[in-house]
Amino acid sequence: MDNFIVSARKYRPATFDSMVGQDHITSTLKNAIRNNKLAQAFLFTGPRGVGKTTCARIFAKTINCMNLSDNIEPCNACESCLSFNRSASFNIFELDAASNSSVDDIRTLVEQVRIPPQKVRYKVYIIDEVHMLSQQAFNAFLKTLEEPPEYAKFILATTEKHKIIPTILSRCQIYDFKRINISDITRYLSFVAEKEGIKTEPEALSVIASKADGALRDALSIFDQLASFAGGELTYKLVVEHLNVLDYEYYFKITDFLLDGNIYDCLLTFNKVIESGFDGQHFISGLASHFRDLLVCTDNKTVELLELSEKIRERYLTQSVKTSPEFLIKALDIIQKTDFEYRLSNNKRLHIEIALMQLASISNYPTLQPKQTQLVTPPSKKTDNPAQKTTLPPPSSKPSSIPPKPQVSKEINTKLTPNKTTSANINEPKKPAFIPSTISIKDDIIQTDEAQETDETETFDFESDEFINARKIQPEHLHEAWNDFAAKISESHPNLYSTLISTKPDISEDFEITFEVSNLLQQKELYSLKMELISYLRDELSNNFIRLKVLLNTAAVQSKPYTPEEIYQHFVEKNPIVSTLKQKLDLTTEY
Ligand SMILES: [Zn+2]
Repeated sequence: MDNFIVSARKYRPATFDSMVGQDHITSTLKNAIRNNKLAQAFLFTGPRGVGKTTCARIFAKTINCMNLSDNIEPCNACESCLSFNRSASFNIFELDAASNSSVDDIRTLVEQVRIPPQKVRYKVYIIDEVHMLSQQAFNAFLKTLEEPPEYAKFILATTEKHKIIPTILSRCQIYDFKRINISDITRYLSFVAEKEGIKTEPEALSVIASKADGALRDALSIFDQLASFAGGELTYKLVVEHLNVLDYEYYFKITDFLLDGNIYDCLLTFNKVIESGFDGQHFISGLASHFRDLLVCTDNKTVELLELSEKIRERYLTQSVKTSPEFLIKALDIIQKTDFEYRLSNNKRLHIEIALMQLASISNYPTLQPKQTQLVTPPSKKTDNPAQKTTLPPPSSKPSSIPPKPQVSKEINTKLTPNKTTSANINEPKKPAFIPSTISIKDDIIQTDEAQETDETETFDFESDEFINARKIQPEHLHEAWNDFAAKISESHPNLYSTLISTKPDISEDFEITFEVSNLLQQKELYSLKMELISYLRDELSNNFIRLKVLLNTAAVQSKPYTPEEIYQHFVEKNPIVSTLKQKLDLTTEY
């Protein structure tokens, strides 16, 4: 039987170019060797398993190679390289400071430094986990590090740079190793799998890579374990089962259900997750990552942050089109709270289920998700031009070719502009015609502040079947719902309560509610709860086309003083002496 060698050793890179994900370091080191400007001491720092020791060894071998290639790579054939590859070189010393941290260990090393190298130019000392050295050991080392002989080179490696004393740090050239990204690890795993003759699915390797958290060594050892178990074929299913990773499939499904507001299927899917042996917190934090991945897909600039295999990536991009950043941010907020409170909850399952119900309700909240998906594919007649459909590009194309969302909505706006266009709208072609024009004058009522007034991004298809069949609203039903809302906020917003019940709102044929207020403060206060009011009315009256227009009645402004300044003016009109009094006593109209 052959001796089994773990992949991390068997496929340990032997040249700078075969190192994974640390190009910034290898190219700098190569340049230093090429220009013969080598520092005396180097500090290699970075997370575990990213190639610090491997790189130190390659460096040691390269500077001693007798036939260095033009590309500054060791020949792996000369006497020095060969003895190095056999781990039999006398010119390289490795000390693991984790197990040799005493001052005596360092003294032994320092004594060796005095002996010049044999046959080659340099003696290289690699001290791994250097932060583990004791204080005395550090001190004993300092002198040698400060004035080493020409031929001695030190490479200190550590995962914890902050634990190295400044006097050491200042004597080293520092190289920061990066966590290796998932796609680099995946690529390397597939190279190893090919060499080993193991069939793999790209998604399977991608899961291993993400589980390894940036450490190639960990990824390789997970790969070894699973490959020996799988016996020739490493499938996504097997990897997911053995690494206790929840299948992407669950998250895709549950997100679809959440977007449809389908609470029942969400709960059933969650039940399957529990039955497969996963706990709720594992599930909910996975859902957070899923939403995060969907969120990065909603913009071309961030889509590169998605580190997944091509096939899964396509699915993320497809699903992200159905969502909106507003939905995802709101959802992530709910998930974060749920995750945080999970430990404290008595009924953990119910805790997650409640979160799912809340998540499923987000998309029923019309102010957050203006039915975009529906508008993208309007009923038959409008999609004459297939190019207008928001379908995803074929799998091979790059994510940058995906149309960014804003374009989609712009398209909808222009496409759905109904024939009621007015002159005010012609000047503002971007706005749909059904948004009220900037100023509407009705007798002595002036409506102001249109920017806040109209419903920002909300667009409706006024020719859709949904609009035509929308439930008509009887004024008395509106008044009832209106007063219910007022009652609900009466404690938190007593002033607004009085405003809301002071007059009755009107509603037009196309479901636009108009409501008059008599001063700017009332208007401002109403704006602060406008979204809540609209969604309440939409829910209560089962009509998603309801909009609200707040009108400021200037006649009323004159008759009813409200702000301190207005009250003051009111008094001055009644009795001019108030003005004199104010000046004499240097009063202000502030409360
Ligand atoms: Zn060589």
